[in-house]
Amino acid sequence: MTTQQIVLAARPVGTPTKDTFRFETTEVPALQTGQVLLQGLYYSVDPYMRGRMSDARSYAPPFEVGKPFYGGVVAKVISSKSDLFKEGDVVLGMLSWAQLIVANEKELRKVDTTIAPASYYLGILGMPGLTAYFGLMHIGKPKEGETVVVSGAAGAVGVLVGQIAKIHGCRVVGIAGTDEKVAMIKKEFGFDEAINYKTTPNMRLAIKEACPNGVDIYFDNVGGPISDAVISNINFHARIPLCGQISLYNNTEMATGPRLQPMLLTRSVLMQGFIVFNFQDKYPEGFKHLTQWVKEGKLKTTETIIDGFDQLPTALLGLFKGHNTGKMLVKA
Ligand code: NDP
Repeated sequence: MTTQQIVLAARPVGTPTKDTFRFETTEVPALQTGQVLLQGLYYSVDPYMRGRMSDARSYAPPFEVGKPFYGGVVAKVISSKSDLFKEGDVVLGMLSWAQLIVANEKELRKVDTTIAPASYYLGILGMPGLTAYFGLMHIGKPKEGETVVVSGAAGAVGVLVGQIAKIHGCRVVGIAGTDEKVAMIKKEFGFDEAINYKTTPNMRLAIKEACPNGVDIYFDNVGGPISDAVISNINFHARIPLCGQISLYNNTEMATGPRLQPMLLTRSVLMQGFIVFNFQDKYPEGFKHLTQWVKEGKLKTTETIIDGFDQLPTALLGLFKGHNTGKMLVKA
């Protein structure tokens, strides 16, 4: 039996292209005890994957040239030599970008599709949900009446951050890249204000107007000039969960900008970078709250689901062009 897989063809310099990826047909190995054969259902594409295409030092090892990409995948067990999983189970794991995948039982977790659709375990009830929860609740520490600004606001993490901040009684301002996204986060997700950074000539002024009491929490998903503009409106004792810097991931040179440290110093601001895995020991707390809010209808999501395993590279590259609203997924 053979399967198609997607490997890293070459490390990209700057923005990745379709040549960064290569499709291969490979033999599916025979199952050993403790292993299952999986058919991929939903494949997650995430901005962090850009970092793993480079071999710069980071919190996780880089993808290897000539080896398959891997990431969050929800898959169905189609045959099993494991006592933990049976045929038909739906599971989640960090798995190869292949249509058929042989996986060890230890790297899988069963997902409960009676609570939520399978795709949610890659978004609102998965890594992006936990990222929004822990970044906002454990670093941002929102208090009722405070003003929260979130960039990348119409994306997988951002749309959740805004809603969780609303649950905690904050005024929420989102920043996103199209008029449709701006309208959506206000109308469907309850943001108080939203700004289209692509059509706003003076972001610093626009944020000042949208936040008459200044910014108490800035959840930073994008970095670059957007973050410079938000931070210039930052309040005393504000918190900045530093979650992502997507505007810089394809840069080939170190970006320079305003020196923000004097402002952070004199206003006693806490800026803390984090990786969701830092909170691994507290995941049950995050799952508990996220699941409860989803059940209560207080936390909603939106997904951009692209059909076809062969669309994985296009979907991943689309994240850097804003082609998604909410969680970007590929359905095999
Ligand atoms: P998204 O679903 O938000 O997708 C990326 C979005 O980023 C795009 O839709 C686009 O929206 C926006 N974007 C792309 N390029 C730029 C740019 N140059 N300037 C401003 N915005 C841009 O992704 P996620 O929600 O999954 O991730 C959001 C951020 O959080 C990323 O930076 C990611 O790396 C980070 N992250 C960090 C984690 C952690 O553990 N620290 C875990 C998960 C994510 P638009 O149309 O608005 O431009």
